[in-house]
Amino acid sequence: GLKIGVLALQGDFREHLRAAQDTGAQAVPVRRPEELDGLDGLIIPGGESTAIDKLARAFELADPLRKYIAEGLPVYGSCAGMILLASDIADPATDLSGAPQQTFGGLDITVRRNAFGRQRESFETDLDFKGLDFSATESGVEPVHAVFIRGPWVERVGPDVEVLAQVEPADPGQASHAVSLPGAARIVAVRSGQLLATSFHPEVTGEKRVHELFIRMIRGEA
Ligand code: GLN
Repeated sequence: GLKIGVLALQGDFREHLRAAQDTGAQAVPVRRPEELDGLDGLIIPGGESTAIDKLARAFELADPLRKYIAEGLPVYGSCAGMILLASDIADPATDLSGAPQQTFGGLDITVRRNAFGRQRESFETDLDFKGLDFSATESGVEPVHAVFIRGPWVERVGPDVEVLAQVEPADPGQASHAVSLPGAARIVAVRSGQLLATSFHPEVTGEKRVHELFIRMIRGEA
């Protein structure tokens, strides 16, 4: 079976350990550089990207992880994990010395943190998500019920990045819990090579298909 690491420095890594186990994989927490060795894939959880960045550097995980990403390690980042995979942050936080937060990078995207604004810091919506055909039934592919918790959106995608899901501006008359965004659709899920990222948290709703897609990517089936 596959061995999936979950970066367990901060954030909701326990939920991702469970979600990875539910796919049938062996799931292990990663806190030390040696624990990156021998993984078939890695999940970077939601949480606080500045805290995960600082802890990863303090625990000397950041540089080895960058090397593994460059060598093609499959990685799935959710929310803060998406920020940490991004090559660029539109509005990086700075620490007390004025130094901007860092990312592991690998995904050629620009993210904006906490992008959906105050009233919509947290919201839920249904998304059409590309690449979940394996879950199709007679009525088609069910949408992904997505929970956003101060999530980022993707403002720029590089030429090799595929957009998998977007939050659409609300139609008038849509259900009251639906997001209503002025202007354009917002990109909230992307894939590039063996890297997958979502702005939202499939691990909190019992949605299994995003983790299954990641496993299929690792197996070369997606
Ligand atoms: N806003 C957080 C950050 O910037 C991400 C929130 C989350 O992961 N739920 O890291």
